[in-house]
Amino acid sequence: MAAREIIPMRVPTPFAVGDVIVYLVKDEALTLIDCGPNTKEAAESLSRQLAENGAAISDIEQVVLTHHHADHSGLLHLFSEQTEIIGHPLNERYITQDKLYMAQQEHFFLRLLTDMGVPITPEDIHKTIKMSYLFSAKRSLTKTVRENGKIDGLDGWTVLEIPGHAASHIALFHEESGKMFSGDLLLSNSSTNPILEAPEQGSGRTSPMLDYVKSMKRLYDINPSIAYPGHGDLLTQVRPAADRRLEKQRNRAEYVLHMLSEETLTAYQVCRRLFPAVYENELFLTMSETIGHLDVLAAEGSVVSFQSENTLMFKAVGGEESGPINR
Ligand SMILES: [Zn+2]
Repeated sequence: MAAREIIPMRVPTPFAVGDVIVYLVKDEALTLIDCGPNTKEAAESLSRQLAENGAAISDIEQVVLTHHHADHSGLLHLFSEQTEIIGHPLNERYITQDKLYMAQQEHFFLRLLTDMGVPITPEDIHKTIKMSYLFSAKRSLTKTVRENGKIDGLDGWTVLEIPGHAASHIALFHEESGKMFSGDLLLSNSSTNPILEAPEQGSGRTSPMLDYVKSMKRLYDINPSIAYPGHGDLLTQVRPAADRRLEKQRNRAEYVLHMLSEETLTAYQVCRRLFPAVYENELFLTMSETIGHLDVLAAEGSVVSFQSENTLMFKAVGGEESGPINR
């Protein structure tokens, strides 16, 4: 087996999260795990760091995407036609900037957010969706991978599907050494969010928070010896970090349940109380998280929703009038 070497490279991003960490893997195939956002600074930084490690962009034989977000996939256009671009099939609708799917997103989010009580116009939605592609690539996958898949040239690594932060999210796990490329599932210095995505035409909404909690528990069970994340420091103590993350999620959900035991509210009203300082500037992220907590509470039967005129209202099950809490 070829001597395997993993070289982390910090690439700047225009996003609040800061640098993205992409990994040069010197295995049977010269592989890059993620590539950085579509900015001049990121392209220069990536080229320079590759050169410092004796490689050029044109030497990269394959790029594996942990997920489709622009800070991870935006530089795909730098690589030649011969470079394999590998990821979960759900990357494709974003990284190709598929017009039909963009229109589908606008339609879906206008309806969903209006339903959730957010005062929002079609123009707001159009702008938000457009902005989300600002640093994105325009490139197709050449190979898709799913749960349990193997990747040529990356000996001993197995693909795990870990949706939640993104529906396209995968991890690569090396069972023998216990190492894992874990993307944005769990970060040491910041908490990543489950983010709402529009479903394909004709299918229902997914629940990213439910997926996220499941993926986090899976990470806990696997307990990699080292997790190589998409941002921040390497994780060598995965279980305590996953525990803290799940506990924080649980506390927020309990707080939402408490709110709803006192008052019937729209998701937007819950969001404003949960994130009073940031909900206006980060409406999409904070609404994603709020709806996520409501999904978790609804799935366990502690919250129900009902339609009131054009808006969905949420209330706790088992308030004073309905007797003991039924969980
Ligand atoms: Zn991400």
